[in-house]
Amino acid sequence: MNQIASHIKEIEDQLNQSTRLIAVSKRQSNDKILDAYNSGFIRFGENYVQELVSKQEELPKDIEWHMIGHLQSNKVKYIAPFVSLIHSVDSFKLLKEINKQALKNDRIIDCLLQVHIAKEDTKTGFDQAELLELLNSDLSGLKNVNIKGLMGMSTLTHDKNEIEEEFKALQSLFEQIKKDKPELSFTELSMGMSGDWPLAMKNGSTLIRVGSAIFGERL
Ligand SMILES: *Cc1c(COP(=O)(O)O)cnc(C)c1O
Repeated sequence: MNQIASHIKEIEDQLNQSTRLIAVSKRQSNDKILDAYNSGFIRFGENYVQELVSKQEELPKDIEWHMIGHLQSNKVKYIAPFVSLIHSVDSFKLLKEINKQALKNDRIIDCLLQVHIAKEDTKTGFDQAELLELLNSDLSGLKNVNIKGLMGMSTLTHDKNEIEEEFKALQSLFEQIKKDKPELSFTELSMGMSGDWPLAMKNGSTLIRVGSAIFGERL
């Protein structure tokens, strides 16, 4: 087994039944992605539209591509034909554009709403009030998006208590929405990266997004 495949296996062996791994392949070569793919792994996450589009063109077509980075509305059209799940929906405008492009492609696109849980202002996402406002607004016109859950990124810190508090806050928001809005099929909670995925899993993450721990340093 190659090194990348063995890193993936090591992580997957530790996952509980309700958590799945997404290998974050941004700024990693196609050869490295193929090392993972050839071992039977098909779920990859990317941050940049251009890079995602060229990898999708060049690599096997049964790869499940996850968009996890900030997405500009004017670029949705490039990924709408194939993207599997967009984790980083951070505005109503973006959600409407995804709906529009999904309709054009005769698809229903799965989406997560990104929530701002970190202390840093640089990270994007809805705050709790904005999120509830969106979920309480009339979404009936958006028939080509399927809002499946939430995504969050913790503060970049070594303070495990701080990180865990942020994950717990996101989990409780997720559970609250799941209960209050049974009409949504809220099933996915995307949180946890190389440095903090075990804590995220402990706090209910269903999708962990792990890059450097699998592929090593990025280019
Ligand atoms: C880069 C990135 C990851 C993966 O980060 P690692 O620390 O390399 O595991 C996960 N999620 C998002 C949104 C990212 O941008």
